[in-house]
Amino acid sequence: MNKIKIYSTMSRKVSELTPMEEGKIKFFVCGPTVYDLSHLGHAKTYTQFDFIVKYLRWRGFEVNYLQNITDLDDKIIKRAAERGISWRQLADDYEKIYKDDMLALHNTAVSKYARATDYIENIVSQVKRMVDKGLAYQAPDGSWYFEIAKFKDYGKLSGRTELKETDGVSRIDESDFKRGWNDFCLWKSSKEGEPSWETELGKGRPGWHIEDTAITEVEFGPQYDIHGGAIDLIFPHHEAEITQIESITGKVPFVRYWMHTGFLNINSVKMSKSLGNFKTIRDVLKQYDYRVLRYFFISNHYRAAVDFSDAGLDQAKNSLARIDEFVFNKVDAAYDDNADEAVVNETKEKFCAALDNDLNTPQAFAALFDFIRAQNQKEKSGKRTFEFLNQVNTFLGFMQFDQAKSDEFIESLVKERDAARAAKDFAKSDQIRDRLLAMGVKIYDSKEGTKYRL
Ligand SMILES: [Zn+2]
Repeated sequence: MNKIKIYSTMSRKVSELTPMEEGKIKFFVCGPTVYDLSHLGHAKTYTQFDFIVKYLRWRGFEVNYLQNITDLDDKIIKRAAERGISWRQLADDYEKIYKDDMLALHNTAVSKYARATDYIENIVSQVKRMVDKGLAYQAPDGSWYFEIAKFKDYGKLSGRTELKETDGVSRIDESDFKRGWNDFCLWKSSKEGEPSWETELGKGRPGWHIEDTAITEVEFGPQYDIHGGAIDLIFPHHEAEITQIESITGKVPFVRYWMHTGFLNINSVKMSKSLGNFKTIRDVLKQYDYRVLRYFFISNHYRAAVDFSDAGLDQAKNSLARIDEFVFNKVDAAYDDNADEAVVNETKEKFCAALDNDLNTPQAFAALFDFIRAQNQKEKSGKRTFEFLNQVNTFLGFMQFDQAKSDEFIESLVKERDAARAAKDFAKSDQIRDRLLAMGVKIYDSKEGTKYRL
């Protein structure tokens, strides 16, 4: 098998993926702020990362995939007040909706969701370490800010220190008290009636950027392998994360690889509420099957800007229909296709070589369709083809195999998974779990081993 290469926004190069600990990857992706329904941009980002994580697992890595949930911020407080409910209630409701939406898209790879407010202790500890080093200052209103002028590496990820139109500007922390315009808030003093914690920093609540480094320090340590997120988070959010953690631990680099997913446009225009082209995941799932959406997001390269249009989605639908037709009409898992061994192996090699090169899905899909075109000339395609498609569906998750749902086949996978767990081969057991989930089989761990339901 080839080595896997990925692009890092920091190095601006594609290079070999070498985790800190061999065979294990600590992978963090910025999660949602749970104050509203999740939108199409979330669907794109999290489907693409779901695919990436599942592919790495399928290639044998044990991936610990962590996502934060921002369960407290200005927007949550404001909306909860408008609705006359507590911020906790609002955040819990939308967290549940977010998770339901992810499940509807078959995004099942996350190992752990971490809520910001469960990490207050380490948030306070990190801010205190910055204060002790003279890097943070307190404004007259009691809030604490990081003083950017004191971190010489500020801007190394994005290559800039200035805002652009496309940045996530809502989190720039406007305040009259700041020493530098881009100083960012670490700890916010709470206004009357707002949620707060009594701490050594004074009564307040966390700033936005600090939650991610506090969570990852607890869960992963001061350094880890991959940090992912949508491209509009690079500046200032990810710069702020680097600033915080590298300045207090002195350990550089904070993460080995930065993976950023490209922009989402709708009919060539940026999606936004003010433009009236805002789509929630729920809206879109009424119009398109989750399989079409998965196909659409995965078939586009994760770093490319993607245009969500009826034409683009129709094309995805047609391509998926070609795969379905092939699977339903030509593939017969009981047919022994000895003669196909070479062509299946060759296709698999091309397919994996493309994905190993920074997840080049357009190239991988081209190899897949070449194969389907050639096999369609034959009367039947047999068990080797079935096994290949079934395997790649572990991370693609948009194919359907009615034959694959035979009890016997599922039982054999479940047994294989139990054996892997008993041998503490968690990379393999996770991989088989992804495969079962992709087939629509729900699984549960119990003392007696894996239980499942169709
Ligand atoms: Zn984040």
